[in-house]
Amino acid sequence: MHSTATVPAASPWARLHGALMPDYNRKATAYWWTMVAIGLMTLLHCAGQVAQLPRVALLQVLAGAAIATFAGFFPVRIPRSKNSFAAGEIFIFLVLLLHGPAAASLAAAGEALVGSWRTSRRWTSRIASPAMAVVSMFLAGSLLQMGVDMLRSRGWYNDGLLMTAAMLFSLAYFVLNTLLATLVIHLKRNQPMVLREVVSNFGWVAMAYAGSASVAGLLFLTVGQSGPGVLMAVVPIVGMLLTTLHFFFRQQEADEAMRRGRVEAAEREAAQSALHVQALEVSEQRFHSAFTHASIGMALVSADGQVRQVNRALIGLLGADETAMVGQPLEALFHEGDAETFASLLARVQRREVDAINVELRCRHSDGSDVWVALDGSFFDNPSAEASNLIVQMQDITARRSAEARLQHIAFHDSLTGLPNRSRFHEHMARAIERVQADPQRRFAVMFLDFDRFKLINDSMGHSAGDAFLIQVARRIRDNVRPGDVVARLGGDEFAVLCEDLEREAHAVTLAERLQLVLGEPLQISGTEISTSASIGITFSTIGYQLPEEVLRDADIAMYRAKAAGKARHALFDAGLHQQVTDRVRLEGELRRAVEAGHLSVAYQPLFNLASGKLTGFEALARWQHPVQGLISPAVFIPIAEETALIGPLTDFVLDAACRQLKLWQSRSAAFAGLSIQVNVSGNDIAHSAFAQRVTRAIVAARLQPNHLTLELTENVLMDRVDGAVDTLTRLRDLGVGLSIDDFGTGYSSLSYLSTLPIDSLKIDASFVRGMRNGSKEAEVVRAIVTLGASLGKSVIAEGIETESQFDQLRGMGCESGQGYHLSRPLAVENVELLLDRIETERWTVQHGQAPRPVLHH
Ligand code: C2E
Ligand code: MG
Ligand code: MG
Repeated sequence: MHSTATVPAASPWARLHGALMPDYNRKATAYWWTMVAIGLMTLLHCAGQVAQLPRVALLQVLAGAAIATFAGFFPVRIPRSKNSFAAGEIFIFLVLLLHGPAAASLAAAGEALVGSWRTSRRWTSRIASPAMAVVSMFLAGSLLQMGVDMLRSRGWYNDGLLMTAAMLFSLAYFVLNTLLATLVIHLKRNQPMVLREVVSNFGWVAMAYAGSASVAGLLFLTVGQSGPGVLMAVVPIVGMLLTTLHFFFRQQEADEAMRRGRVEAAEREAAQSALHVQALEVSEQRFHSAFTHASIGMALVSADGQVRQVNRALIGLLGADETAMVGQPLEALFHEGDAETFASLLARVQRREVDAINVELRCRHSDGSDVWVALDGSFFDNPSAEASNLIVQMQDITARRSAEARLQHIAFHDSLTGLPNRSRFHEHMARAIERVQADPQRRFAVMFLDFDRFKLINDSMGHSAGDAFLIQVARRIRDNVRPGDVVARLGGDEFAVLCEDLEREAHAVTLAERLQLVLGEPLQISGTEISTSASIGITFSTIGYQLPEEVLRDADIAMYRAKAAGKARHALFDAGLHQQVTDRVRLEGELRRAVEAGHLSVAYQPLFNLASGKLTGFEALARWQHPVQGLISPAVFIPIAEETALIGPLTDFVLDAACRQLKLWQSRSAAFAGLSIQVNVSGNDIAHSAFAQRVTRAIVAARLQPNHLTLELTENVLMDRVDGAVDTLTRLRDLGVGLSIDDFGTGYSSLSYLSTLPIDSLKIDASFVRGMRNGSKEAEVVRAIVTLGASLGKSVIAEGIETESQFDQLRGMGCESGQGYHLSRPLAVENVELLLDRIETERWTVQHGQAPRPVLHH
């Protein structure tokens, strides 16, 4: 019948079973109850028997049971097994031998109760264990008693056999107890019993039982011989022995546990670090992804500088493939010059002197070009590697670097030739000077080159031809110096060469000669062949320079000397030249002070009308009486004044003094009222825009008539500045001031200019006068100048008349006036006054004799 199956309501019995012994199957349950029942009955039986014992024996039984039970608290654990052996067995066995199986069974029950109570939490075990112990002990003990009784009855009893019997008993007890205990487990698991397993499991316990039994046997025998009092001494000893064993094994166990604990902790740690590694792996993956995809070039480098890994950006940056980079030293990526810099920085980081590397250096691109990178490198500790790694980032800064380099180049190079310019050359020289100062064994030479015909090319062919010329000669110079030499363009057609580490000074001369040779070869410029030449001045570090300016100045001076010696030459700046230069520098200072302090004076050289012999005026000539050197020639100090802007104040001084002086002399008498004064002015003066004003001021201050003043300009000065000077000259002419060309015939005045310029007179140069002889070339020139003057309407003056013959010839040619030592030397003011006195009193003229002597100046 298929009706709804209902679970029968669990009986109270079943519920109790479920609560207490859920793992006990039917067989096991049956066994358990049977065992407990038999145990209980045996216990009751034994208790009944023991109760009949005499009091002393009862006390002994109780004491034995107590000791056995107490010993259960100190089990001796058999190392590395779950089994333990309670020393209480000895006393149980002793009780057995002394008082029979019933007493021993009670003691065994007590001991088992305590033992199972300690070792198991289950009531089933706590109840079954004592029951099994009672049963086993009672059975085994009864067997022993039967055996001993039989031996006694047969008269075979002796100590040895007793011991053997006790051992056999213990075995039986063990087997029984174990069988009973194991049986329940096997029933629960539904497994058949295997004796071998039982023996192997409990082998140790069996041995312990046998030991206990023998000890108990020995104790029993001792009691038999010496009475029960001996137990008082032996029991504590045995107790102590067992306690010691108990603690010894406990300690061992603890050590074992600790060791196990440590192993476990280590295992745990390992597990944890596995987790950590996992986390690291994640972060490493993240890093790796960042590394690979970064737009900036990156490399991982081992502590010894070997490239481990590179990213795509770096591969792109250097154009090299990965395999060529990985495994190489990082330095191999750099430009040779920079590899060393990097290596020293790396060493510093490795020594932990600095934390990181920040440097800009050049890498080599696979196409051979240089790539500038900003490199940042820092160490990080790599957990998976012994040493730390270097992570290097490289950013391409080539564009910025080349822009900087371009700017730098523009600032320090000549745009036309690409050569270093003056500032750069100064830098090079400053460094060369430092090196020589640090090591006097080293020496350098500086050459100053100037082309002899550059101005002509520029003027006649135009500036682009001039540029082409400069570019070509620059190349020739550069191609012919030594590799380390520095060639610079200082400006215009001036070039300089710095030759360092010269073995001998003669090598610089050889180089100069070679340069002159190659620069002397014709050049092709705009289809025209042009030949040129260079003048070279050379100076050496042995002079002992402190400043680059000094070096260039001396090379320049030497170059001028070469030019003066006839162009296309070289000249060395020597110690003599050096002395000249220093003298000149000193003189400059002294001249400045003399001009400022008004220590110059003026000498007056009389001018005469050659036909009448009458005094017409004077030429004012500047004089400098040097406190040490004496009188210094204007031929020396006028050029210095012209170069140092001292000429302005000097001209003003002479102009003022001469105008005032003349006015004084004119005022002496009517005969002198028509005297005039000639004042020399330099090219720099007429270039000065306020010059006409300055002249006006001098005339007005002296209250002189303008037509009594004549300004002398040398022919070359006039022609060089003709365009700029015409204005000033015209204004002076309008003022009424006379203008004269000094040293006429030595320059290259063009006749067209002569006719248009506002000039009043021509002063024939002394060199022609000196060379005048009948029929001489000079005499012809003088004659031509006199004729020219007459045709242009300009008066002609002769200077440097030293002899009567010259005087006569000039007068014969119709030269209007003249000056010279033959007529009068330049005179100091006092001597002019003596002359004027004579003219006044004696009506003196040059026809009547020489001018008064002695003269103070010349
Ligand atoms: P210069 O203007 O041609 O002056 C004539 C020079 O010839 C003077 O030389 C004079 O002393 C000299 N001399 C005159 N007669 C004879 C003679 O018979 N034989 C010889 N051998 N020499 C004679 P000094 O005084 O030495 O002046 C030289 C030059 O210095 C002048 O040549 C002139 O160019 C310049 N100079 C002199 N004073 C001044 C000045 O105040 N300003 C400027 N700018 N230049 C001046
Ligand atoms: Mg003159
Ligand atoms: Mg002159």
